[in-house]
Amino acid sequence: MARRGGRLPGEASESLNRIPVIDGHTDVVRRVRAGDVAFFQRNTTGQVDWPRLCEGGWAAAFFAVWLDTDELDDALRSALRLIDTLWRLVEESAGKMRVVQAVEDLDRALAGEFVGAILHLEGAEPIDPDCVALRMLHRLGLRSLGLVWSRPNRFGTGTPFVGRGSPDLGPGLEPAGPGLVDACVQLGVAVDLAHLNERGFWEVAERIGDRRPLLVTHSNAHALSPSPRNLTDAQIRAVAQSGGVIGLNFHVGFLTADTTKPPDAGRELVLRHLDHIAGLVGTEHVALGSDFDGATMPVGLADVSAVQALLALFAGAGYAAEDICRIAHANLRRVLGHWWVPGRVGEATADAGHGPIGNQPRLA
Ligand SMILES: [Zn+2]
Repeated sequence: MARRGGRLPGEASESLNRIPVIDGHTDVVRRVRAGDVAFFQRNTTGQVDWPRLCEGGWAAAFFAVWLDTDELDDALRSALRLIDTLWRLVEESAGKMRVVQAVEDLDRALAGEFVGAILHLEGAEPIDPDCVALRMLHRLGLRSLGLVWSRPNRFGTGTPFVGRGSPDLGPGLEPAGPGLVDACVQLGVAVDLAHLNERGFWEVAERIGDRRPLLVTHSNAHALSPSPRNLTDAQIRAVAQSGGVIGLNFHVGFLTADTTKPPDAGRELVLRHLDHIAGLVGTEHVALGSDFDGATMPVGLADVSAVQALLALFAGAGYAAEDICRIAHANLRRVLGHWWVPGRVGEATADAGHGPIGNQPRLA
């Protein structure tokens, strides 16, 4: 039976032995919204479209809703425009692509029934302190949220793009931040720690506590590439101790040791970051978080069609088939399986008074 129950124009005509991939981050929705890509055709520009993602073996990916700073005045409506674009793609796909909202959907995507879109909000600016927008976006399929992108907002502070440096830049969470974490746990929306500065990272990790594993969708090892966007070894260990996962980011500026001279970087650098993280904590805690259509790719990894070649590179370096399945999809599937369960009554932390979200005083 043909994979995904039929073919769209340009889709490969044969089902090859591709390892199914869950990718932790793509910005393709913005490119579709801008008219930069005809999603269901093969494009000569951009990094993601349907024919190429089929070649790359994508079973599912985190489709980011990210807002530029000049869109923040009307953040919720700007986010809805992008969510509308994603749903329109799903409708246009005639069943070959779906917004996955439960782990059962993800398993069907991994079985090849359709490509799963995980709706991810990268920066919580559209979320109001009283949580109405979060609940409504959850009803529209939101299943993953980063409190911040690389800027401050009412919940916390993201690491700015400053080239080299420690992630310990700026203050910790704002008063509303812990409440948003609790609200996400309650609803079953995974909290993504990518882009948080270091103080925010530790405060979110502490707030989540042992309730859920830590998820960092698209970040690398600071020990190899000293961008503030990357994770220190202590952060990597904390993610692993929680049972969590880190998606390897393919952006050259987060791969190279000299972040000022990245253009010659090859895809072997992704392997180096895998080696480092797996060497510290094991392959149970590494995934792929490409940042396709939001970043500059290394040589040999120009677009999503090259992902299976990257997995072959891992295999050639000695990673066993079991390790590669974990990295390609099983680790993210495991972590999302823990998150996509609404919180039980009483599971929210007892520490009330930290902010309005999740601890609204009752009027009656
Ligand atoms: Zn990002």
